Amino acid sequence: MTIQIPYAAALAAIASGSAPPVRSDDLPVETLLARFHPDHGPRARVPLRIGANAGDACHPELARLLESNALIDDLDLARATPLATDVLVIGGGGAGAAAAVTAARQGARVIIAGKLRIGDSNTVMAEGGIQAAVGAEDSLQRHFDDTVRGGHGRGEHMLIAQMVRDAPDVIRWLIDLGMAFDLSQDKALGQTLVRKRAGGTTAARILCHRDFTGLEMMRVLREAVELQGGIEQFMRCPAVELLSHEDGSCAGAVLYDLERRSFLLVRANAVVLATGGSGRLHLQGFPTSNHYGATADGLVLAYRLGARMRDLDSFQYHPTGVAWPRHLAGGLISEAARSAGAVLLNGLGERFVDELQPRDVVAAAILRECAEQRGIMRDGETGVFLDVRGALAARPDLLERDLVSLGHLAAKCGLDPRTEPFLIYPTLHYQNGGIEIDGDGATAVPGLFCAGEVTGGIHGRNRLMGNALLDIISFGRRAGARAAEARPPHAPGRGGLSHVHRWRRELARAGLPADLRAPQLYPTYGNFALRRGTTDRGNP
Ligand SMILES: Cc1cc2nc3c(=O)[nH]c(=O)nc-3n(C[C@H](O)[C@H](O)[C@H](O)COP(=O)(O)OP(=O)(O)OC[C@H]3O[C@@H](n4cnc5c(N)ncnc54)[C@H](O)[C@@H]3O)c2cc1C
Repeated sequence: MTIQIPYAAALAAIASGSAPPVRSDDLPVETLLARFHPDHGPRARVPLRIGANAGDACHPELARLLESNALIDDLDLARATPLATDVLVIGGGGAGAAAAVTAARQGARVIIAGKLRIGDSNTVMAEGGIQAAVGAEDSLQRHFDDTVRGGHGRGEHMLIAQMVRDAPDVIRWLIDLGMAFDLSQDKALGQTLVRKRAGGTTAARILCHRDFTGLEMMRVLREAVELQGGIEQFMRCPAVELLSHEDGSCAGAVLYDLERRSFLLVRANAVVLATGGSGRLHLQGFPTSNHYGATADGLVLAYRLGARMRDLDSFQYHPTGVAWPRHLAGGLISEAARSAGAVLLNGLGERFVDELQPRDVVAAAILRECAEQRGIMRDGETGVFLDVRGALAARPDLLERDLVSLGHLAAKCGLDPRTEPFLIYPTLHYQNGGIEIDGDGATAVPGLFCAGEVTGGIHGRNRLMGNALLDIISFGRRAGARAAEARPPHAPGRGGLSHVHRWRRELARAGLPADLRAPQLYPTYGNFALRRGTTDRGNP
């Protein structure tokens, strides 16, 4: 274990409370990332051996799940309860809800299936806000340029341009659903949305609801799903496999009803996969900010059916996860705190990075401080300080008005942020890569659409704060609209597991084990098994 500076000594080093200037640093950004960001470490990638991306780099733990066997067989299908719909939406977070509401408004019969309850998701946990270039000094071009630059030039320009153009209308759509955004206190009503700066951006473009924007967004989306006619909910019914036609197109999905412990076979003209991210895989042993259901299920299901993926070796480690106390490790402290003036300090009391650099740069800078023994050790936990004292002194009402969640978190940590800094460490936060889509969320597999964190290409290899909440509504609506228009090329009643049979032959040819089964559905410590008495998830 690397030796760090003891907590008491580090506290003494920052006793004055005034924020020092940022230490001048000799490491160019590319070197910093290459040496300290987890995406670049020795255990960061392996080539995939089978499937549409064979030969491409993938994180080893994700590769293990992607190259696994299905959980179910033909016999399970024979025993399943059959259902039929026009559009099946898989995932009850923001992207899924937006897709379901949009498809139903176009007259499609919709089933929305979720692993947990509707709204149990990363969306509901989002804090900082959503980007939209609505300010007079801002522009769509600046939003586009910031997003391209933030993603290290690796995002798809067409997808980014479309999302950025959608943004003002997305905000209107959310307001129409009833979502409340923070309003300036010092201006006349009208054109008064509060706008904040996010890391890596050139304009104040974050719109928010205090520091629990996702909770407010999911509140109105959940209500919209409930109130919109034509949507049937199947919650606590995770998708365990997709269904295919003989030609490889998507025909629906198999759900597992956790209450009745039985399978449902849902045939659909189109499927929208909106299963979110993969933080609960705890890649490289990192803690995570993600909700309990973020186990990469959508990636596993789509890959087996033939969808193409991208950037599967690129993840976002949010700079400010809680490091102490241990039981809260990985919990998020929103970038909103740094936007409001919180600073990062090492064990010597030095400010070692501009806090509003893109997240990968700030996370790598923190990991560097810890690797070079300028981190702080408290009760066995390592990190650096996030110091909000200066920001709170300048704005005494900050916790009550803007950073409400931060105040609650401080209480849970048992500290007073007016006098004591947080100990923080990067936390596994976001899946930058995912399933390749076109502008309507269509994938390489006919009949299969995707939206939200499960997709790749929009954020390149580093997402900016606020662009995920925008992405899920922009692409959720588009995917829902296109899915509602899909007409089945096949007679109803067809569809099965032919892709699974093909996949099993590929596994055998590549010498890959048949006893590793996925999707994983729950974190390994959830001790979940689809069949009693077995351990049939990705971990044998
Ligand atoms: C703590 C936190 C704070 C964040 N803050 C911000 C922010 O301020 N601004 C911003 O832009 N972004 C933020 N993000 C990122 C953003 O919230 C997410 O990327 C986005 O909400 C993902 O939406 P989604 O609909 O794609 O996935 P989710 O919202 O995660 O929804 C996925 C749903 O799919 C379900 N599911 C998973 N597997 C299955 C299965 N096999 N069968 C059925 N259902 C399944 C899940 O249970 C879940 O309900 C934050 C993320 C976190 C974790």
